[in-house]
Amino acid sequence: MLSTRALVWFKRDLRVHDHAPLVAALAHSDAAALFVLEPEWLQSPECDASHVDFTLQCLAELRAALALRGLPLLVRVGSTVPVLAQLHQALRFTHLLSHEETGPGWSYTRDKQVATWCRGQQVAGQEFSQTGVIRGLRSRSGWAGRWQARMDAPLHLLQLNEGRFQAATSLDQADLPTLQELGLAAHGKTLQAAGERAARSTLKSFLQERGFDYRKSISSPLTADTSCSRLSPHLAFGTLSMRTVHQATEVAIAGTPERAMAYALRGFAGRLRWHCHFIQKLESEPAIEWRNFARACDGLRESEFNDDHFAAWCEGRTGYPMVDACMRSLCATGWLNFRMRAMLVSFASYHLWLHWREPGLFLARQFLDFEPGIHWSQMQMQSGTTGINTLRMYSPTKQAQDQDPQGHFIRRWVPELGRVPLPYLAEPWKMDISVQRMAGCLIGHDYPAPIVEDRAAIKSAKDRLYGLRQGSGARAEAGEVLARHGSRKSGLPNSTVRKRGPAPRTASNQTAPAEPSPQGDLFA
Ligand SMILES: Cc1cc2nc3c(=O)[nH]c(=O)nc-3n(C[C@H](O)[C@H](O)[C@H](O)COP(=O)(O)OP(=O)(O)OC[C@H]3O[C@@H](n4cnc5c(N)ncnc54)[C@H](O)[C@@H]3O)c2cc1C
Repeated sequence: MLSTRALVWFKRDLRVHDHAPLVAALAHSDAAALFVLEPEWLQSPECDASHVDFTLQCLAELRAALALRGLPLLVRVGSTVPVLAQLHQALRFTHLLSHEETGPGWSYTRDKQVATWCRGQQVAGQEFSQTGVIRGLRSRSGWAGRWQARMDAPLHLLQLNEGRFQAATSLDQADLPTLQELGLAAHGKTLQAAGERAARSTLKSFLQERGFDYRKSISSPLTADTSCSRLSPHLAFGTLSMRTVHQATEVAIAGTPERAMAYALRGFAGRLRWHCHFIQKLESEPAIEWRNFARACDGLRESEFNDDHFAAWCEGRTGYPMVDACMRSLCATGWLNFRMRAMLVSFASYHLWLHWREPGLFLARQFLDFEPGIHWSQMQMQSGTTGINTLRMYSPTKQAQDQDPQGHFIRRWVPELGRVPLPYLAEPWKMDISVQRMAGCLIGHDYPAPIVEDRAAIKSAKDRLYGLRQGSGARAEAGEVLARHGSRKSGLPNSTVRKRGPAPRTASNQTAPAEPSPQGDLFA
């Protein structure tokens, strides 16, 4: 046992199981744990009270779980470096143990400041990876093999009898603050259950029952809410580790006697890799949260932002029932399935020709599972600014007919359309006035007329984007984007990367197995 004191700094890893810094802390003479509610986060444009509410609930459970093992969890409000400096005065910790984080710009800056502070105080700052995202990655070649190796590695588990800490502090733990004390208004959303226990039972119910129809049921918002795993907030806040989900899924696949279930779960297992694959893009190129992947797209939409269209989209009153139902459902629950997220963004980017950044910030606040690396990559993919993806422009009418053929979802979330006859439900503006009166829904009065005309808007978007892509500059740049971020077999050119974080790591390349694609195209 070393005569040293560890401070375990929790961030987006609010769990006890498979937590490398916690296990590492056991090797020190004593330890304490810390979570910081940072104003940089609370005041960031991506943060919503629902995210903070979920975090506070996770922290309450985590604090109790750590207390059982003798480890006090201190929760402080303030910027991290001053909080660390103050605690250092009181505790004189020698080691700061935490997980790597691939977050927005403010967390990137904070990590660098913490690293500088640690060096100045001669505190050993140790960061551990918790996903398949590789810091300081030089080439995408071999990435998938390295992901696999990390995911197959043993879990970092605290055995209950061995896992008791010597508490390093008698500092007042203080009650957790309320949303009000943090200056946040109530969010009004009905959220999924928070905490590690809820995460593990969600995983179990998915792998044992709910996952059966995964492949068939994930596109419709009617079935996706139970057929999808619903693990995304747990992965985002770290109440489950990706390695735990991956390993439990492999066990479930191997153990199920039903081929259909194994097939369904294999589809799910592939998506776990996408999670890290997308976050790797932000890790390697932090600017993608505000800048186009393809710089040839700079200037495409910036000067044409229509505030009224944006407001109508945010409030679910575009006049397109499927778009409005999805937005209202999302704002009430904090979750929406992939296909409908893509449709919302497609509508904002192509029909309304809005630049992706403001819609992206709005959606980041609505998604309880906001994960910057996935989110900003997907925002750009669905807006056509990666320069290399197939352009997918969703028709809200077709999506309504395909994914909600009986209109249950639309009627639930857009009650003004409750009595509109089914043949008109996806396109209520086609009702003549007598049908409108019968349905108690006057278009332009009870429910908006479409804010843009579908076909004309899509034609204009196609003309502009395909025109842009045909330019020789855009084509050359597409190759560069693909080299930096595309999944591929080994042999493609290496890229230069900007290193994130205080302690970039590199590892040797291996040959990549072929990967499934989130959209069936090269940007996977
Ligand atoms: C515009 C847009 C923004 C998005 N923003 C986010 C976000 O902020 N956070 C987030 O977790 N997901 C995001 N997604 C991806 C996807 O919609 C969600 O991961 C999924 O709906 C979460 O529900 P689930 O956990 O039940 O998914 P499941 O289908 O059960 O998938 C399991 C896990 O696999 C990963 N995954 C699934 N699909 C994808 C995908 N296409 N790309 C990357 N990872 C995937 C997620 O970690 C997910 O939790 C976004 C998609 C779009 C189109």
